[in-house]
Amino acid sequence: RAKEIGKACFKVFNNKMHTKVVRENELERELRDAVFNEELAVYYQPIVSVREAALLGFEALVRWNHPTQGLISPAEFIPVAEETGQIVDIGEYVLKEACRQMVKWQKLSTNNGHLTISVNVSAKQFQSSRLVKFVEEVLDETGLAPESLKLELTESTLMRNARTSIRTMQGLKDMGIRIVVDDFGTGYSSLSYIQRFPIDGLKIDRSFISGGAQKENPKIVQTIVALAKSIGVEVVAEGVEEQVQLELLKAANCESAQGFMFSKPLDEKEITRQFIMDLEN
Ligand code: C2E
Ligand code: MG
Ligand code: MG
Ligand code: MG
Repeated sequence: RAKEIGKACFKVFNNKMHTKVVRENELERELRDAVFNEELAVYYQPIVSVREAALLGFEALVRWNHPTQGLISPAEFIPVAEETGQIVDIGEYVLKEACRQMVKWQKLSTNNGHLTISVNVSAKQFQSSRLVKFVEEVLDETGLAPESLKLELTESTLMRNARTSIRTMQGLKDMGIRIVVDDFGTGYSSLSYIQRFPIDGLKIDRSFISGGAQKENPKIVQTIVALAKSIGVEVVAEGVEEQVQLELLKAANCESAQGFMFSKPLDEKEITRQFIMDLEN
């Protein structure tokens, strides 16, 4: 009897695993064509100054417009792409597209010259030996100034192989590109580690913002801002949705923010209409 139950459980477990594997295989196969069929798109979310809500730049966020399933969230397909290595192609596509777009926006008005573009770099992409050279080529081809580009890396990406990470970061820094640690506060990097990396900014994870003034959040936000100031790097908060959260950031002296309160990620056209043309007036 026990044996039978065990067998049944195993079967259920197996079926679930099977479904997951099938889904992932399917995604993998379809993702392979997605880049070439132009099903991937880059959306942009404004990053603003906390004090004046002035536009500072955008974060590039990939979207997959699947022919039959509609929009698939990067939270679903990025992990698959990371596992299969397809993330390298996808990441290169996003980087190139985002840089090209930023040059276009900067050219639309002299007021746009200071705007920056932040691009997420996955662990596999960061570890690939061609990253530095690829970034250099993209800047060359698009004509984007290196000062306009920020790369976002998570703590876990940096920590994977600290020594190699520092070397790659240095290569990027030598070009004049800025490096921001994404989702800061959720990983395991210690103070001493963060100091060893040649970084330019910390991005406070959404989980500490979305909780608002509840529990330890204000203290955590204040601590991260203080840490950023003490090591001389900039600080951004992600996921700002409400006024109270913005007030919290003001009180903590956090310089910049992004979130639905200011704007959701939008496509190129909408950003141009709502944020770029507007600057001319
Ligand atoms: P992330 O880099 O931390 O990006 C911020 C995410 O928070 C985005 O989700 C954005 O839409 C969302 N967000 C921003 N403000 C708010 C807010 O006020 N409320 C809420 N609820 N959410 C907000 P998205 O676009 O779904 O991307 C999820 C994650 O997928 C990203 O997190 C990033 O880790 C990854 N990702 C997206 N695009 C790329 C890419 O081109 N390359 C790589 N390697 N990863 C990417
Ligand atoms: Mg990011
Ligand atoms: Mg983030
Ligand atoms: Mg995040």
